[in-house]
Amino acid sequence: MVSCKTIIANLSDYFDGDAPVEMCQKIEKHLRRCHRCTAVYDSTRKMLVITGDERVFEVPTGFSERLHGFLNKVISDTRAH
Ligand SMILES: [Zn+2]
Repeated sequence: MVSCKTIIANLSDYFDGDAPVEMCQKIEKHLRRCHRCTAVYDSTRKMLVITGDERVFEVPTGFSERLHGFLNKVISDTRAH
């Protein structure tokens, strides 16, 4: 079982399509079992959907930083538990 921290750390690559196939499979398998990571996955996906819509008009500045900031916060929260 891959740790939540590893899953969350790799989520942005997963959404970017940059994660290796093996990691994608680990993430998908983990998400089926872990409600907490599923919640993070959903939040991240919503952020990306919003950004995707905005991208039609304008590439959002600092989005990547915000996304990584969000994921880093989740990672530190995860570590605390
Ligand atoms: Zn998890």
